[in-house]
Amino acid sequence: MPLANFIGGEFVAPKSGAYLDDIAPSTEEVIAQIPDSDERDVDDAVQAAKLAFPAWSRTPAAERSKLLLRLAGQIEQNFDELAELESQDSGKPLSLARILDIPRAVANFRFFATAILHDASEAHVTDNTALNYTLRQPLGVVGLISPWNLPLYLLSWKIAPAIASGNACVAKPSEMTPLTANRLAELSIAAGIPPGVINIVHGLGGKAGRALTVHDDVAAISFTGGTVTGAAVAANAAPRFKKLSLELGGKNPTVVFADADLDDAIKNTTRAAFWNQGEICLCGSRIFVERSIYDAFVDGFVARTKELRIGEDIGALISAAHLEKVTGYIELAKKEGGTIAAGGHRLDRKGYFVEPTVITGLGCDCRVLQEEIFGPVVTITPFDGEDEAIAFANSTRYGLAASLWTRNLQRAHRVAAAIDSGTVWINCWLLRDLRVPFGGMKESGVGREGGFESLRFFTEAKNVCVKL
Ligand code: NAD
Repeated sequence: MPLANFIGGEFVAPKSGAYLDDIAPSTEEVIAQIPDSDERDVDDAVQAAKLAFPAWSRTPAAERSKLLLRLAGQIEQNFDELAELESQDSGKPLSLARILDIPRAVANFRFFATAILHDASEAHVTDNTALNYTLRQPLGVVGLISPWNLPLYLLSWKIAPAIASGNACVAKPSEMTPLTANRLAELSIAAGIPPGVINIVHGLGGKAGRALTVHDDVAAISFTGGTVTGAAVAANAAPRFKKLSLELGGKNPTVVFADADLDDAIKNTTRAAFWNQGEICLCGSRIFVERSIYDAFVDGFVARTKELRIGEDIGALISAAHLEKVTGYIELAKKEGGTIAAGGHRLDRKGYFVEPTVITGLGCDCRVLQEEIFGPVVTITPFDGEDEAIAFANSTRYGLAASLWTRNLQRAHRVAAAIDSGTVWINCWLLRDLRVPFGGMKESGVGREGGFESLRFFTEAKNVCVKL
């Protein structure tokens, strides 16, 4: 069954009549066809959103909140089916879709549905001569572009705050993982979200995605994806003065000091390395270990890596092209002088499965430690002392997330402050609170999402000054 775009509350075929194959990574079979949309479809969606915006933006927050909560409820009622679709479409283990992706999609809608009931804006009194107050008004039509690694999780992370704050949106999910977005469209009707408030256009980034970034009636673009794509999105959106939020790639350091709880560090850094087969922007792909515990850490990490079950703990990579890229980096690691301490191969079976791979013996300057691989491949490198740990952690152009493992509280705070990244976890990884600012430094992004940061992004601040 070919999927359709969701425009103005209706499912409509792409203007071109052309479709793209959606391939299941674990079977390599075509499981759906998605619209190969172009600028005409995007324009239709933008016009539908424009039409919906005035009434939606005037809908009281309590009513918008109720509708978002109903959508969260719809996702929950269809939990099993959504988890199945997500796993099939992205290659991730079903168990992971059940504990991570779908619960988080529910949480995103609940969180922003209730956040708008607790938001407040500022007032500034000027020497008893004037009262300034800040209005935060929705922007209009906003464009939301999301990647394939956490499809519904990241799509809902954008749709929820965008529409909660009164905007109408046009979302362009990844062409690799359209299925849960399509189901979300159906569920939005069941939840009673008015037609045109959520529009979903499927298709290629360079065509449908690009059309959204250059559309004159789109006031803002919230983009999550790779750094190179982020630069193209910025180049298109910036001259049109759109608000822009960019959540980009990472090459995240995990720093393990000798005083860390070794068992806990091994257990959790393995998860940080290989969860979602390493296809999470926050995965800790560069591990730095203080030299005195380096051998013990590597032994424990390798042993734990070898216990991971393919299919149950480690899913398939998203595509044949991505598999080529990831295995290419394993070959590069060998050329750069690295030792493969675990894994290193594609599995001899259907599906884009790669063994979880541990590489040792490489320094920070190697390409394998500089470039985002986005697969189940980690490096482990020894360090001497805190200054070197910080220098190693900061040695890439990325700055998304880091995790530190130590029992020394002072050091934990000191190193956290010195690391260039938007998030630092201490003795944990991916412990998320949706209220905190989330985003990247350096080439990992521009702007912050999360909590009131998202609501601020999706609104324009207007100062109103009243003479007293
Ligand atoms: P990608 O950049 O290839 O694609 C992301 C989205 O952008 C897709 O929907 C794609 O169709 C669209 N796109 C592609 N070219 C476009 C263009 N020229 N104009 C507009 N849209 C375009 O990324 P991906 O491969 O889907 O996802 C993996 C990347 O995403 C990794 O680099 C990962 O680190 C990053 N990521 C970052 C975060 C974060 O929060 N910082 C979260 C998840 C993933």
